[in-house]
Amino acid sequence: MAFEPLPPVPDHPALEHEILEWWESEGIFDRLREQNRGEERFSFLDGPITANNPMGIHHAWGRTLKDVFQRYKALRGFDQRYQNGFDCQGLWVEVEVEKALGLNSKRDIEEYGLAEFAERCKERVAEFAEVITDQSKRLGMWMDWDNDYHTFSDTNISYIWGFLKAVHDRGWLYKGHRSTEWCPRCGTSISQHELFAGEYKELEHPSLYVRFPLKGREGEAIMIWTTTPWTLPANVAAAVKPDAEYVLLESGNWVGREAYPDEKAMRTARGEELVGLEYEGPFDYLPAQEGLVHRIIAWDEVTMDEGTGIVHIAPGAGSEDFELSRVHGLPVLVAIDESGRMLPGYGPFEGFSTDEVADIVIEDLRRRELLVDEGRITHRYPTCWRCGTPLVFRVVDDWFIACDGIRQPMLDENEKVAWTPDFYSKRMADWLRNMGDWNISRKRYFGLPLPIYPCDCGEVNVIGSRAELDERATAGLEQLQELHRPWVDAVTISCQSCGKDVHRISEVGDAWLDAGIVPFSTLGWQNPEWIEHGYATGAAQGLSGADLPDHAYWEQWFPAEWISEMREQIRLWFYSISFMSMTLVGSSPYRKVLTYEKLLDETGREMHRSWGNSIEANEAFDRMGADIMRWQFCEQNPGQNLKFGYGPATEVKRRLLTLWNSVKFFVDYANVADWSPGDTGELEPLDLWLLSRVEQLVAEMTDAYERYWTPDLVASFERFVDDLSNWYIRRSRRRFWNSDPAALQTLWTALIRSVIVIAPVMPFLAEHLWRVLCSNDASESVFLVRWQEAGERDEQLLAEVAATRGVVDLGRQARAASGLKLRQPLRRLVVEGAPLAKGHLDEIRDELRVKDVELGDVEATELRVKPNLPALGPKLGKGLGAVRAALEAGEFEELAGGGFRAAGQDLSSEEVLVERTGKEGWAVAAGDGVTVALDTGLDPELELEGRVLDLIHELNSMRKEAGLELTDRIVVTLPEAASDLLAHADRIKEEVLAVEIRTDGGSGEPEIVKA
Ligand SMILES: [Zn+2]
Ligand SMILES: [Zn+2]
Repeated sequence: MAFEPLPPVPDHPALEHEILEWWESEGIFDRLREQNRGEERFSFLDGPITANNPMGIHHAWGRTLKDVFQRYKALRGFDQRYQNGFDCQGLWVEVEVEKALGLNSKRDIEEYGLAEFAERCKERVAEFAEVITDQSKRLGMWMDWDNDYHTFSDTNISYIWGFLKAVHDRGWLYKGHRSTEWCPRCGTSISQHELFAGEYKELEHPSLYVRFPLKGREGEAIMIWTTTPWTLPANVAAAVKPDAEYVLLESGNWVGREAYPDEKAMRTARGEELVGLEYEGPFDYLPAQEGLVHRIIAWDEVTMDEGTGIVHIAPGAGSEDFELSRVHGLPVLVAIDESGRMLPGYGPFEGFSTDEVADIVIEDLRRRELLVDEGRITHRYPTCWRCGTPLVFRVVDDWFIACDGIRQPMLDENEKVAWTPDFYSKRMADWLRNMGDWNISRKRYFGLPLPIYPCDCGEVNVIGSRAELDERATAGLEQLQELHRPWVDAVTISCQSCGKDVHRISEVGDAWLDAGIVPFSTLGWQNPEWIEHGYATGAAQGLSGADLPDHAYWEQWFPAEWISEMREQIRLWFYSISFMSMTLVGSSPYRKVLTYEKLLDETGREMHRSWGNSIEANEAFDRMGADIMRWQFCEQNPGQNLKFGYGPATEVKRRLLTLWNSVKFFVDYANVADWSPGDTGELEPLDLWLLSRVEQLVAEMTDAYERYWTPDLVASFERFVDDLSNWYIRRSRRRFWNSDPAALQTLWTALIRSVIVIAPVMPFLAEHLWRVLCSNDASESVFLVRWQEAGERDEQLLAEVAATRGVVDLGRQARAASGLKLRQPLRRLVVEGAPLAKGHLDEIRDELRVKDVELGDVEATELRVKPNLPALGPKLGKGLGAVRAALEAGEFEELAGGGFRAAGQDLSSEEVLVERTGKEGWAVAAGDGVTVALDTGLDPELELEGRVLDLIHELNSMRKEAGLELTDRIVVTLPEAASDLLAHADRIKEEVLAVEIRTDGGSGEPEIVKA
């Protein structure tokens, strides 16, 4: 049989397109699912991707990890669901649709019309769900693509309603009146979990020092500091720290002593002595301020680190201020409307945005001589996660779920979850410990309609399902095309307490409710019967064929054995699915989690389109190929940020080429030998080693897959390929030239085994190589093969060869350090500390081109010890100089365990840099407890042999350049100057397949012709 010859380098994107088509035409994925149906289950739950934009590279990272482990479990025969999820509603979709339509405020949307707006949102979701599906397929992700779940389906919404009703039944649902972070552009509050660190930006704001004159104290004032001038018109109080010292400066302004330590004090007072004093507010003339009495209050949280030690309090414009208003009974002045503009009652400021109003406020204060100082400050400031607008505080009514009742159960349950990397478990616990009540309402349009129907009688009606809505509706059902605004708003229900008609509140829900319900909604929890296409309801109609399974199905697939999303999801999806699952069934919806950090560009900067350093997923597919992307993702320690780019991709391609070349080498020689699998000769020790080595690979890879730790997959595989190529093939070349069937069978077996275990990581290349290697059965896919556990292996032999390779590597280092060419034979190598290599001295001799290898003590070294400054500097301080001098002068003694003593100090092995150098005539290298010393002396015999080897190399290069076949024989003509090399004619002939070598007496270059 003949194997399909491989080109010198793979064209990854082209090869991947071929494989995709082949998978499609052969129905490989369907056959795989069929093969595993009814087997033991592996339950994976996909966190939904927002169907709002094309997939980003960071999504490709997460989707690769999901696919790697689903493919691995499939190879092991597990039955899986493969349901992909799309997140379909909420602010992110709305904002993109607004941009596309050129709308820029809530008023714009209302004028456009809610029904039309909802249609545009659905169209956008449908469009990008398709784009993401195509991209995911291109990445190699195998999912049940036509049966995705969509979070905006009526089924999903109905399940969330059920959750909200359960929350209400427990008394956890409440309407809160509080100060909250507010996006003036989006016109909605932003909840705690939406404020991640990444949404803080460096922004410049005014920095004002303002005096508030004290009443009844002629010439005295308190001085406050603020960076939000717009809040001053809403000032109602000023806070001091009761037990801190305050001083009256010569300027007549009271400030905290700690904040002004060097200023001359006219008088001092404790904070509590100032409490109760009344002052003139900065804008008493505004109608909004009418009748208001401003006074000084006590607050323990006042800090002296920044500002003046006296804090201006505006309860309508800050969350701590708001809390203080409750304690002290302060009035709450709300100065801005939902688009962030100053309200009537604020005189000259009315209608201006919080930014625009700053200059007017400053000018007004200056004119009335209340402004003490003015500057600018750059600080980290929260912005809207969706549109980037700086946030303000606003007092509003929102709906909340109280979380104190569920906090401890969630913490307890989190203890049972296996997190990878494990430190994320603590991050999750930290979040749970600190989470505030869940703000679930958003004053927006295309989102989950909150099923809350408050009645004047005091009853808060909560509808628990679509069916319940149908039952209790008093009007509007006939026009209810789906559970979205505006249609759902037209449905009234009867109050369960007084029977009056009541309306739904206008708010929609937090998008994390949508995604958080999927462990229930997609698995048919409490659903009495299986409903075909029962998930393709409401807005999802026509987009998916997903069934709504019955409760028995939920029992089979809940909880998920494993989930994987990025770190941010601790506050988001991991949190919301846990919250909802604990509420509904009292247990975690997942057992194991793999999570990962951020994706940066290859220099470590964040990727931004505007910086020109972002990479589109499609561009990466075309330019580097999906396998190369997947390799970068898998190689990365998920607990650290990934530096992704074309530079690293080139490096990955270069490394993968070693595998390609090994397969190509096999194919070329197997075809020359007309060899077929099963044609086995007598195995040699090196064959036995490779067969053990590949079983070791399978064992290592299995272990890494079971630990969900991809960096070890890649590291194990690369070590194996290095052994395969740079040891087995290198040391067996002659046998391949001679068509040795044992060598061919061994190499073929090792390649086959290794291609299977790496297939989940790089499915395309693995599939291609598998098909090349199995050319006798081309309809089979590597993914239809059953995983074979690692077989027996000779651990002693593996350890010996590993030690031998270690010695050879050190020998090469020593040669490199000596400046001698690798081809130049040398006389002697001494090896210390590698007893396992004892039976392999011939191989070391051969690899390093030395005549003699001995195991013994390396005496030909000089030891140099230098201080490791980053470690020793901080430890020794001024004592470093003496130690450095002693080390330099060689005045030190070696301690057990690799440490040293010098100048009276004990230095550990981490605190010093040790260098062993050869004495005159020797090259030395050391590492991992092994030292090798190479005798670098040359004599005429060695020099002649060196020239022979140079010639062989040159002739073989000429063979390649001349395009000769591996089996072609040649005639060599040498110049006169090389005639002394004929003493080694037999060796030269053998190495270059020459039938004759002659000299022509000339002085030119060697020449070859085909014999
Ligand atoms: Zn916004
Ligand atoms: Zn009522």
